[in-house]
Amino acid sequence: MSATDAIVVGGGLVGVAIAHGLQRQGLAVALLDEGDVAHRASRGNFGLVWVQSKGIGAPHYQRWTRDSAAEWPALAATLREATGIDPALHQPGGVTLCLSEAELAERAESLARLRRESGNAGYEYRLLDPAALREMLPGLGPRVVGGSYTPYDGHASPLHLLRALHTAFRDAGGAYHPNTTVATLRPAPHDFAVEAAGTTLRAPRLVLAAGLGNAALAPLVGLSAPLRPERGQIIVTERAAPVLPMPLVNIRQTGEGSLLIGNSAEEAGFDTLTQSPPVLRDMARRAVLCFPWIAGLNVVRAWSALRVMSPDGRPIYDQSERFPGAFLATCHSGVTLAAAHARLLAPMIAAGALTTAMSPFGAGRFDVQNAA
Ligand SMILES: Cc1cc2nc3c(=O)[nH]c(=O)nc-3n(C[C@H](O)[C@H](O)[C@H](O)COP(=O)(O)OP(=O)(O)OC[C@H]3O[C@@H](n4cnc5c(N)ncnc54)[C@H](O)[C@@H]3O)c2cc1C
Repeated sequence: MSATDAIVVGGGLVGVAIAHGLQRQGLAVALLDEGDVAHRASRGNFGLVWVQSKGIGAPHYQRWTRDSAAEWPALAATLREATGIDPALHQPGGVTLCLSEAELAERAESLARLRRESGNAGYEYRLLDPAALREMLPGLGPRVVGGSYTPYDGHASPLHLLRALHTAFRDAGGAYHPNTTVATLRPAPHDFAVEAAGTTLRAPRLVLAAGLGNAALAPLVGLSAPLRPERGQIIVTERAAPVLPMPLVNIRQTGEGSLLIGNSAEEAGFDTLTQSPPVLRDMARRAVLCFPWIAGLNVVRAWSALRVMSPDGRPIYDQSERFPGAFLATCHSGVTLAAAHARLLAPMIAAGALTTAMSPFGAGRFDVQNAA
């Protein structure tokens, strides 16, 4: 039997960011992860820290995303200092390009709505014509009719981030249990028991942050996580000289020079072994219409990975009424929200309860939707 202050289930970006944040509050934490058999969004994502277009119709989500973007520089600095690993945050703002007047009208409407819904918090954005975009983005194609810019956006290296968070966690004395699948839990209010590597871990706090695995775990502690996989594909080109000064929603250039092309969404169940050439073709075609010079770059690899998707696409943060001390955290933007998870959510969990401002993120919202 081993007692600790908190057990976090899931060592992806969400779980390890929360575990790191709990340690910063002075808690002893055990982090359990299933291992390479699991579907792991944290190792297959695009790496955007993206605010633009998040939270339409959900001002609490817009605010949360912006808060996370604002906390990101402090997270990156803390991790760099503690581990020597640089998550490679670059936050110059970001652009979405439009290839038709209809797309541009839709962007204008979405951004105006985000500003309207942000109330006093304000929402900065600019709609740009092709001439203004050409000044910002070298080699823009003639098919681009306009675009939008928000100053909050950026990108990072998701693998460096994951590595830095795990290193910081372990260096601060965290107990990491890889290859440990949690299938059963013994819950009691403020006393949770989990089997790991032949011992029983006990803690007064339990955080379920197991990505798609949360769907099966949540009911064990009186919670619900109606999640489904949404497949995204990513294309990686050979390295090129630095050319893109800022990320776009579908194209970014890494610090090493590769271009990543992404932003597809498919319902493909749990299939990450195959890829769909028509989807890859459409992504590549759109990238070349935005920047014709991309056609001259060789593609070096491509992959599929699964987003952790709730019915409305927004995060679920919840706490169990039946088993106080049990929390759930899941989202489809774990890079963007890493700073919020480490620096804003973890202190609430350490204090024992989510604040009332977090209640719109609870899974109860789906019961209300189903009843309507
Ligand atoms: C193609 C694609 C592009 C994306 N692009 C972006 C982007 O640009 N920006 C952004 O912010 N986000 C992006 N995302 C989303 C982001 O990757 C995810 O939100 C994030 O990785 C989710 O992290 P997670 O820890 O919840 O889940 P995961 O990374 O899936 O990790 C869950 C972990 O839980 C463990 N686990 C599962 N079940 C159990 C169990 N029973 N017991 C123990 N452990 C268990 C698994 O081993 C796994 O390591 C993208 C995702 C995809 C697929």
